[in-house]
This record gives sequence, C-alpha cells and structure tokens, in this order.
Amino acid sequence: MTIHNTLSDLPKAELGFFPTPIMPLKNLSRHLGGPEILIKRDDLTGLALGGNKTRKLEFIIGDAVEKGCDSIITAGAQQSNHCRQTAAAAAQLGLECHLLLGGTQPNHINGNLLLDKLFGAHIHWAAENRKGEGIPTLQKALIAQGKMPYVIPYGGSNELGACGFVNAGMELSEQLDYQNLSHIFFASSSGGTHAGLMIAKSMLNASFNLVGVQIDKDELEGCTFKAQVNDLANRTCRFLGLDTLYEESEVVLDNRYLGGGYGVIGAAEQHAIELLAHTEGILLDPVYTGRAMAALIDSVQSGELDNTKQVLFWHTGGTPSLFSYANKFE
Ligand SMILES: *Cc1c(COP(=O)(O)O)cnc(C)c1O
Repeated sequence: MTIHNTLSDLPKAELGFFPTPIMPLKNLSRHLGGPEILIKRDDLTGLALGGNKTRKLEFIIGDAVEKGCDSIITAGAQQSNHCRQTAAAAAQLGLECHLLLGGTQPNHINGNLLLDKLFGAHIHWAAENRKGEGIPTLQKALIAQGKMPYVIPYGGSNELGACGFVNAGMELSEQLDYQNLSHIFFASSSGGTHAGLMIAKSMLNASFNLVGVQIDKDELEGCTFKAQVNDLANRTCRFLGLDTLYEESEVVLDNRYLGGGYGVIGAAEQHAIELLAHTEGILLDPVYTGRAMAALIDSVQSGELDNTKQVLFWHTGGTPSLFSYANKFE
C-alpha cells in the first residue's frame, strides 16, 4: 500500500513559533574574510529553549494525539535535546512522558536533564543503551499497566520527523532567494534533519550544497550513517507519495570533525563556540552546533567556498547543554 500524504494533510501539534528568523552574521563574515554567512535560528523555535526537534515533534506528537495515545516513550543521551523538547511537548499536551537516557543517574542534574525533570518526565537510566534499545520492554510494561504509549525513535528521525524538515526547507525558500546560497551547513546525527532538507532541495529544484556535519561515529548494526540518511530520505519520499529516489552518493556528510566522538568537546568546538559568542553574541552548543560551525569555519578558511555567494548555517539548537560543559570554559 502506498500512502500519499501531503504535508498540509498531516495532523500537526502547534509547538513552536515559525518561521524562525534568518540573520546575517556580519561580524563573523568580516572576521573570517570569506562569503557572507547567514544563520537560520532554529535555536529560537520557542519550545522549551528551542531546537530542531520542535519541527519533527509537531508532526510526531500530532500523530500521537490523533491516535489517542496517553503517553510518550523516547530515548537519547543524558543531555538529549530531543528528549527535553519531547518532555516539554508532552507536558503541554497532558501526555505522560517516559525517557530512556544513556548513562546512570548523576549526582547533580544540569542542562537538559534538569529541564526534563521540571517538565515532569519519568526518567529510566539505560547505561550504554542511549539509542532506545530498551524501548520495547518499557512499552510492554506500560501497556500492561493499561496505558497507550506512543513510541518516538531516537532523535525523532522517522518519516514524520523528516517531514518537519521538508517543511523547514519550504519555510526557508519563502524567506530568501535560495539561488544565492552555495552551501547549507548543519549538524547531522540521527538523520531526520538531513533527509528532510534533501527532499526540500529536490522539491525546490535548488542548487545549494547540503553539508551535513557528522556528529556521531557510531554505525548501527553494520549500517553506515550515510546509508541510514539515504534510507530515511527514500522512505520519507514514499510516505509523501513522491517519485524521487536518492542514491547513497547523493548524501553529503563531512566526517572529519568527529574528534573524540559523540558529546566530547575538543579544541575545534570550543573555538567555534567562543568565536560566535565573542563576535555575534550568539550561543552554540558543545555537542552539535559547535562542531558544525567548526566545519564551516574551516571551509571558509581553506578558501574552498565561493565568496560571491552566501553560505547558510542552520542553527539546530542545543544551547541548554552548554551548562553541563561549564568546566571546559573555566
Ligand atoms: C538532534 C540535533 C541535531 C541533529 O539532528 P538530526 O535530525 O538528529 O540529525 C543537531 N543539532 C542539535 C542541537 C540537535 O539536538
């Protein structure tokens, strides 16, 4: 069975304030001496300190509400931005929220974990299983208690989540002349942002290069991250009834910035965070946007970008986790 959905037919929970602003990074562009750099402020989506997961959750939670579910289960790292935004959305809609978080209960709560607690989420510590390996067991336990849980995969990266970024690409196209953009840089980690933007690019027939800066070196069951993004993009096309099909070679991932791995802040991330804070008064985060901005800075400085075009940095949020990395900046 083929499902022909259009974005406007899908049930949607209104969770944020859109469109998010786009602004030029004048000081940073001058400082680096390359092309004009613009920033798309998805750190300002408005849901519980913002972030890219708000866009995915509008479609995912919309589906949960339509299906009559009374509780949500999802998973992530201890400082997961996805889990924090899910907990806030669940609170807003009166749904019970269960989070499977990597690691063990820390002595002090901070950053996103503090916010998860404030939103009343139930936290289950999952040790090394931060990608939702324990979801089926928890789901069964909640069903046995008479609940109707709705499962959201790691990072909210399924077809509905990717639709949030198909929509985001359309939003961008209404805000600027995207034919002037040579590149869009963004952090890519569970693939929904990337897959959605790829589809939007095809729908717009746009020529900009989408550069996903890879955040996590993990490969899932022998499947590379590139293959996962490609698969999600194709599944989302089918879900939307589009004929488009992508090849793995069309997924552009920059994997030169993995450093010490997921969540390990190195000199490059630290420099990018400090540079943007000093020159623009804008906060990046240590896990995602700091790393993606480090890649953009390197691309400008190596002279590989076209200075007559504009470059867009998609700020995907994450700033609450800065506070849990305070000691790196002392
Ligand atoms: C989740 C997240 C990303 C990555 O988005 P994916 O769709 O999971 O690839 C980037 N930046 C921040 C701040 C995030 O929380």
